[in-house]
Amino acid sequence: MYLSGVGPVRADALRRIGIFTVRDLLHHVPHRYEDASTIARISRLRIGDDATIMGRVISKGIIPTRKGLRVFQAVIQDESGLIECGWPGQPFLDRSINPGDLLLLAGTVRFFHGRQFAPRETINFGADEEDQAAGRVLSVYPATEGFSFKQVRALIERNLDTYLPLVTEYLPSAMLDEAQVPALPEALRMVHRPATLDEARRGRSRLAFEELLFVNILHIRARALARTPRAGIRFTNRRDLTSKLKATLPFELTDAQVRVTREIVKDMTSGERMHRLLQGDVGSGKTIVALFAALLAMENGFQAAVMAPTELLAEQHAATFAKLLAPLGLSPLFISGSLNAKARRAAATRLASREPVLVVGTHALVQGDTEFSRLGLAVVDEQHRFGVEQRLALGKKGERPDILLMSATPIPRSLALTVHGDLDVSIIDELPPGRQPVTTVRRLEKSRDKVFDFVDTQLGKGRQAYVVLPLIEESEKVQLKAATKAFDELRKGRLSHRRLALLHGRMDAAAKDDVMRRFRDGTIDLLVSTTVIEVGIDVANATVMLVEHPERFGLSQLHQLRGRVGRGAEESFCILLGDVSPDTEDRLSVVVNSSDGFKVAEADLRLRGMGDLFGQRQHGEATFKIANPFVDVELNALARESALGLLAKDPMLSSKANTPIHQVLRRRFDRAMELFRVG
Ligand code: ADP
Ligand code: MG
Repeated sequence: MYLSGVGPVRADALRRIGIFTVRDLLHHVPHRYEDASTIARISRLRIGDDATIMGRVISKGIIPTRKGLRVFQAVIQDESGLIECGWPGQPFLDRSINPGDLLLLAGTVRFFHGRQFAPRETINFGADEEDQAAGRVLSVYPATEGFSFKQVRALIERNLDTYLPLVTEYLPSAMLDEAQVPALPEALRMVHRPATLDEARRGRSRLAFEELLFVNILHIRARALARTPRAGIRFTNRRDLTSKLKATLPFELTDAQVRVTREIVKDMTSGERMHRLLQGDVGSGKTIVALFAALLAMENGFQAAVMAPTELLAEQHAATFAKLLAPLGLSPLFISGSLNAKARRAAATRLASREPVLVVGTHALVQGDTEFSRLGLAVVDEQHRFGVEQRLALGKKGERPDILLMSATPIPRSLALTVHGDLDVSIIDELPPGRQPVTTVRRLEKSRDKVFDFVDTQLGKGRQAYVVLPLIEESEKVQLKAATKAFDELRKGRLSHRRLALLHGRMDAAAKDDVMRRFRDGTIDLLVSTTVIEVGIDVANATVMLVEHPERFGLSQLHQLRGRVGRGAEESFCILLGDVSPDTEDRLSVVVNSSDGFKVAEADLRLRGMGDLFGQRQHGEATFKIANPFVDVELNALARESALGLLAKDPMLSSKANTPIHQVLRRRFDRAMELFRVG
């Protein structure tokens, strides 16, 4: 079926925002709404306000600044007054924004020769659109590169009347009544064309309920499955290699490490297959726990594999293991895509032998030509960085090996099952002793020079630093330009005497690894990065994490970034630089005031929902697009009741009446369901 108004090029752009079918289009719902009550009058704006305004362009131009940055400026007018708006570094807007255009702008008011509006989001309705904000609700849709807001809205407008009548409700009406949510066709109409903000909310509640219902169904099924035993290897706790490691370890394990190690040993020595998630804040010492598990497998004559998401991280683990295992007379095997043919053959020979070896590597471990003779334990580090298939593939490399997944992205225990399926969860809730907390501070734009003086002082002491720029969803090209500019400014300006490098999302994996490696080896002093810096990387000499535009990051992301420093003996600093709105200031204070990743994650979940926690939503997995179980608490309770009722009567959802629900469940959660089939 072809949508009216979509050719191959636009279809590509649509696919990038996850729209493959008409159904996806109908479910591409506005991320927010504006009406007269949410749009501020321009005359009322005060410096520091975070506001949404709507007005017509009365003049425009490109202004060069002293630093060589070109700023697109426009004066916007509504019936109450005028304001100048400035888009630094975006002179190309001059091509698409013209006098007479009606703009919807969300952003902050700052001081710049008077009031100036700094838009964070710009929506151009064009010159034909009537200024009707006073009389109706505006639906604001997420856009993408190659697909502007206007196009998304026009496409939905054009197709809504054709396809809405084809949508049918498939949930029992009693269930909908109970939850007090409208039926699906009506709900979709309400979210796309609401008459009032309240109507938009009611429509959204139906879609949120549906999401919560299915997640609860999965959750309940997963629990049931978790209780059915799955046979696995029964290891014996010989206390041979593990005791030797304990005796030669250069430090004492923390109580939390001892506890989770016990949980893992218990799993591995039982006849059931282990399927455990080990969570622990960045730097909490998960790697050593994995090593103990690996040694337990090895002293039973099995092989153990640790898979890491990047070559660099795999290398780092291999080096760590090599050091710790040397006193035991053992050495780990390293496998990655970049090994030469000879090294590959040597590795393959060792893996094919019955030698109980520890192998560390990238996803090359799960590729076809890597064969294990006797895999007993599969460890996946930074597991959220892998797709479900890759995680499963490692487990399939052996005869029902035990599985240990590790992650520094903390999910509260109550939600872990919902998000991860039938995993058992172990949590390291304690950092090794003597770790200095990272000093975290907020600094305003006016202190920029001082901040960079400080960075320079640290570099002068031989330390290293990171500067992180936000990902701008709208356009990778814009992002790259902004990063390159920031990098050039530093390189040619105040830090010209230092060794700088740039890391960005458009570089291929090998180039990224190369830059990170040079940073690790100390031949780069300061790393400017647009991508969230490689997870798990341990550069003890780095003492400054400077984050630009902290308002663009989730709190958990900021916490992860902060975890990149504070790894050595020197005091470390995380600096959140820039002017933000009072609301954002409140939000950032969570990170400034707490160094506990779980507290930060919980605040993040409340404020921004589940999707952001993972940075990128994995298509088809049981995370949330619309609902937020932390905020939609009542709705979630209702959904849970409904799910329990449904499954109590029909545990496999196999009755004729429940066929549509079963189909939706299969379609939407195919991969998640596969996750439950691991055992
Ligand atoms: P993460 O949980 O983030 O993967 P790592 O396993 O990389 O953390 O550990 C971070 C650092 O802490 C490593 O340098 C490791 O050697 C060290 N470490 C781990 N456990 C302890 C401990 N009990 N005492 C002291 N240092 C430890
Ligand atoms: Mg780690």
